[in-house]
Amino acid sequence: MIEHFQLKLADSHMLAPRVRHLAFERADGAPFKYMPGQFIQIHFNYDDGKPTKRSYSVGTPNHDGAAGRLELAVSFVEGGAATQLLGNLPHGDSIEASGPYGRFCLLNEDANQRYFLIATGTGITPYRAMLPSIEKLIATRGRKFALLYGARNEHELLYADQFEAFASQHPEFTFHACLSRTARATPHPHDHHGHVQEVLPELLPDPEHDIAYLCGNPNMIDATFTQLKELGLPIKNIRREKYVSSR
Ligand SMILES: Cc1cc2nc3c(=O)[nH]c(=O)nc-3n(C[C@H](O)[C@H](O)[C@H](O)COP(=O)(O)OP(=O)(O)OC[C@H]3O[C@@H](n4cnc5c(N)ncnc54)[C@H](O)[C@@H]3O)c2cc1C
Repeated sequence: MIEHFQLKLADSHMLAPRVRHLAFERADGAPFKYMPGQFIQIHFNYDDGKPTKRSYSVGTPNHDGAAGRLELAVSFVEGGAATQLLGNLPHGDSIEASGPYGRFCLLNEDANQRYFLIATGTGITPYRAMLPSIEKLIATRGRKFALLYGARNEHELLYADQFEAFASQHPEFTFHACLSRTARATPHPHDHHGHVQEVLPELLPDPEHDIAYLCGNPNMIDATFTQLKELGLPIKNIRREKYVSSR
């Protein structure tokens, strides 16, 4: 059910030079109910008083359908109205929000034996929220996951330590850092120099048993969608969440 509520900023830190992690609590103290993969909307006014809104994926790893804190990763866009608000919001201040929205959630069907989770930038956020569900799908259904994460350099790999710790505990989950500009100072086993699309042919997509999730930059999503189709994946097995401005 979609609700409107006030969110109070409880904590924050910089994840990368231009990406802020924000942890909110509902001002009414209620837990926030959502499915991993869903997003919320932030409602605010432009300087001229005109109302507007922006969407942000919920990143809090979710164990039981609700969370006390609502965590977002916000990438700073030059001249952006929401960037101005969320980039400078002081701890203790409140904003108006609504949600949850969206259906970019993990399907659990017999045919889905391997999941490609593909992201650039803050598009990694929904997969962070999904980690407890992924753990359950591995333990109870023997599913496999390959997370392909595109960034320019290692400093832009958000939450990489959390995904790599998860991968080291779960051999069924592999983390492929795809760095288009600068390799890591200490490369990791699945690192790739280049874009996420270049790793997919090596993973031999199986049209019968693979499902792909694409999240983040619209150009990456279009290029990867085309490539997955060419590699034989049916369109119904390619799910997309494009980070376009929702004004
Ligand atoms: C479902 C969904 C989920 C989203 N989740 C997230 C999330 O988790 N984290 C996150 O950071 N963003 C997310 N976004 C994008 C977010 O909603 C905003 O569009 C983004 O934060 C920019 O808002 P802004 O008000 O700062 O910029 P705006 O005022 O909307 O834009 C300012 C200028 O920058 C351009 N612009 C807008 N976005 C970009 C961009 N990404 N790159 C380059 N130029 C741009 C605009 O065309 C405009 O000219 C999501 C979008 C959708 C639709």
